[in-house]
Amino acid sequence: MAGEPQSDCLFCKIVAGDIPATIVRESATTVAFRDINPQAPTHVLVIPRAHHADAVSLATEAPELTADLLREAGEVAAQEHVAAGGYRIVLNTGAGAGQTVFHVHAHVLGGRDLTWPPG
Ligand code: IMP
Repeated sequence: MAGEPQSDCLFCKIVAGDIPATIVRESATTVAFRDINPQAPTHVLVIPRAHHADAVSLATEAPELTADLLREAGEVAAQEHVAAGGYRIVLNTGAGAGQTVFHVHAHVLGGRDLTWPPG
């Protein structure tokens, strides 16, 4: 069922504490941790504790969590001191766009020049 933990989901395991992560921020509904393969000086993933596959699933199944996710992404940027210089929130959606973990996660990237268009 939507929102329920999935036994085969890497990020559900991080939420449960079964796989270690460098957690930088937590809220009642979200967890933020450093990406294991950082693409910028600040590269943090923000996820809902509840399992939803991607951004559109989240917005459909639990719209209030979508707001939590984006607000927490902004809080991470402020905490990491990249908010003033500009940062990027990335929600890869679908394998063709590079999504590899199907538990929605917002990448918060900052601390370097971010070019456009992204690769
Ligand atoms: P995606 O490609 O948008 O799905 O992003 C998945 C991200 O998860 C990638 O940037 C990976 O580097 C990151 N990642 C995979 N496994 C772990 C982990 O165990 N801890 C932290 N980040 C991870």
